[in-house]
Amino acid sequence: MAEKDDSDYAKFVSDLNIPEAQKRLEEKVTQPACPFCGTNDWRTESSPPDVLLGIASPTFVMKDPRSYFGPAPSIPTISVSCGNCGFIRQHNVSILTGRAK
Ligand SMILES: [Zn+2]
Repeated sequence: MAEKDDSDYAKFVSDLNIPEAQKRLEEKVTQPACPFCGTNDWRTESSPPDVLLGIASPTFVMKDPRSYFGPAPSIPTISVSCGNCGFIRQHNVSILTGRAK
């Protein structure tokens, strides 16, 4: 099996179309208050270089525990944290972009 490099990851993330998912998320979420503390201070999780561009960095939810031993299917998500209580919500990127089967 060929080794993966940074360009493989960049293409993978590019194909997820996170900016489109983030745009649709912002259109669809109509009740923004945190369900646990009532605060409206959501912070989209992002790390360099995405944070410099104002876009989310993808996070992943394991579909099953095989990833403990090696690669396994996962769900690409956008994570958003409450700035008051720390509650983290996640939104499925494939559903947001209409690619979910
Ligand atoms: Zn909260």
